[in-house]
Amino acid sequence: MPDSHPPPALRSVCVYCGSSETTRSEYLDLATRFGRELAQRRIRLVYGGGAVGLMGRCARAAHEAGGDVLGVMPRFLERREIVYEAVPHRMVDTMHERKFIMFEESEAFVVLPGGIGTLEEAVETLSWARLGLHRKPVVFLSEDDFWSPFFHLIQHTVEAQLTPASFMDSVVNVHSIEACFAALEARTTTA
Ligand code: AMP
Repeated sequence: MPDSHPPPALRSVCVYCGSSETTRSEYLDLATRFGRELAQRRIRLVYGGGAVGLMGRCARAAHEAGGDVLGVMPRFLERREIVYEAVPHRMVDTMHERKFIMFEESEAFVVLPGGIGTLEEAVETLSWARLGLHRKPVVFLSEDDFWSPFFHLIQHTVEAQLTPASFMDSVVNVHSIEACFAALEARTTTA
């Protein structure tokens, strides 16, 4: 494993991302590069356990680059999302258990492009932050501003005084892998 990076401040990051195989190749490629970068930085990847879509690309890249990976898979999704057997995984009974273990095992969250499932996981994590249940950083990463409509929606709720403006400090939208790690490290050390 490359040792060009010092021991990480951050040891374990949860990645939420899409399970689609037919999305843009740029998104699948971003997931691959992000997984590889986690391994190179010796940060464990915690993810949904599947072998498909961005999830599968990220896990395979991290594993093949020598990184630690933990997958968390609900039994009823085992066929649809195809467990990536090459890495350790925990089998659970419900989506709630999956999310809770992913949450407990991680110090920070990165949200790559994804669909309804990704949004659900990200929004629940943000809602737990809003309720004061955690201060773990949540960073949205895309290279084409994929998440900008979502950020506009949160801002819309801020403007209507339904979400406090200070909440925007706890959620970050970045456009490169380097910016993502910079945001994670800055926030992890102050959380
Ligand atoms: P998607 O972005 O729709 O491709 O979904 C990404 C991942 O989120 C998939 O592994 C889904 O199984 C997962 N997912 C969807 N809904 C939930 C949920 N309520 N709790 C945990 N994971 C979920």
